[in-house]
Amino acid sequence: MEKRKITIAEGDGIGKELMLACRNILEAAEAPLEYLPIRMGKEVYLEGMKSGIPAMAWDDMARTKVLLKGPITTPQGGGYKSLNVTIRKTMGLFANVRPVRAFAPYVKTHFPDMDLVVIRENEEDLYAGIEHQQTSEVVQCLKLVSRPGCEKIVRYAFEYAKAYGRKKVTCMTKDNIMKHTDGMFHDVFDQVKLEYPEIQTEHYIIDIGAARLATAPERFDVIVTLNLYGDIISDITAETCGSVGLGGSANIGKDFAMFEAIHGSAPDIAGKDLANPTGLLQAACMMLVHLNLPEHAHRIQNALFRTIEDGIHTADMKSEHTKHVVGTQAFAQAIIERLGQEPSHLVAVKPTNHALRLFEPKRRKVTKQLVGVDVFLDWDQDDRNPDILGRMLDELAGDALQLKMITNRGVKVYPYGRPETFCTDHWRCRFVAADSLLDEEHVNMLEAKGVAYTTALDLLERLTNAQLNFIKIENLYLIDGERAYSLGQGE
Ligand code: NAD
Repeated sequence: MEKRKITIAEGDGIGKELMLACRNILEAAEAPLEYLPIRMGKEVYLEGMKSGIPAMAWDDMARTKVLLKGPITTPQGGGYKSLNVTIRKTMGLFANVRPVRAFAPYVKTHFPDMDLVVIRENEEDLYAGIEHQQTSEVVQCLKLVSRPGCEKIVRYAFEYAKAYGRKKVTCMTKDNIMKHTDGMFHDVFDQVKLEYPEIQTEHYIIDIGAARLATAPERFDVIVTLNLYGDIISDITAETCGSVGLGGSANIGKDFAMFEAIHGSAPDIAGKDLANPTGLLQAACMMLVHLNLPEHAHRIQNALFRTIEDGIHTADMKSEHTKHVVGTQAFAQAIIERLGQEPSHLVAVKPTNHALRLFEPKRRKVTKQLVGVDVFLDWDQDDRNPDILGRMLDELAGDALQLKMITNRGVKVYPYGRPETFCTDHWRCRFVAADSLLDEEHVNMLEAKGVAYTTALDLLERLTNAQLNFIKIENLYLIDGERAYSLGQGE
């Protein structure tokens, strides 16, 4: 069989010992692979390469189309951007797939019947990483969600369910609060599900969904959700399954895919031969399926299950079924010795071809009508009394515009605010066309008056001349005649 060239990166911390264990198993299983090692991570950063990835490594990844990657250390707070996020976004890896299955009773878990897959949108949401400090007190992070982004991931989840014989897809969002961003994700889910009538569907608000996952994960099958929620719930599911050391994940794009364990670089146990290689090995098996080598993947997985059943465990898996606690390399050797065997209690994996169809989302054109602007001000005068600011802005609105409201952190404070509302130095001031009949709740029924861009620019000039410091503006649009912006709390 012709060998497939893949790129491998050991990464940081426990990465080196895990990659060694996995390669030994892959080679013993005669997986037809040729390895192209690349460097990335902390050492590369420390050598002064800010991105953490040498330029040539990008070309190697693009050429081989597949990367098996060890964990990478990301400094918290300041410092370098997460390399994992950089790779996902640069290479267009829109889907993060994390299957989680219990190994009960051999690995302790309260949920022996748990067997689910979290499919997480991987490129958008708060992970765009666009953050700004705008005033002395207020910092913002932009949550960006696109319709093509939602379509790609939701379709992928349904196609995955079909290919892997899964019965149900659950969507989780917070669209009771974020009606436009999370609302779009839910809306796309409701449309796409109509094309897969054979698959059951449901939607949960993420908070109750996460709570149910923590108490009854066996009721879920495939879960599709936005980036941040997916990040959190996939760690919850991995942990409730027994150990973060057990889970593998795939990051899938149109032309490239990256496979890695879900855990991090575990600096506390690095270099001690204590780490569990199961997560990276499960990721390597997902990679083999992706490369259309399912027989090799399933041979390795069955040997892994047999090893766990035989009570040969790394320290993190310890339970009353443990017979031998072994180190990373001895665990890999035990798997190698069991290649060709099947588990007798855990359900064996059957070789099937799980080729998935990927969809290009359709582009669509909409009509946009500008009906107002939100001007954000940095204002810290007059004891932050919103009535003083409001009266000033009423005057400055001019003939073409009217001040509709002022909010502080999203809560309406003018006109008719409450003295109890805490105000920072960051004010959102909503201007709409003067004498507009725009009724926010019934916007489709009334004639909304348009606003010219030049009118908004004139307003900004008047504000600046009045020594009012604007931070940014957001345009208020009707998109295809529908209100496409949120109301203020209490508006
Ligand atoms: P971590 O996953 O590295 O460790 C959490 C805990 O789990 C530690 O106690 C660790 O010893 C244990 N653990 C992790 N993997 C294990 C394994 N294979 N076997 C046995 N025990 C294991 O999470 P962290 O400490 O929050 O993060 C450490 C670093 O890893 C950070 O810099 C973080 O940014 C990075 N990280 C990278 C990735 C990635 O590369 N995809 C993912 C998560 C975290």
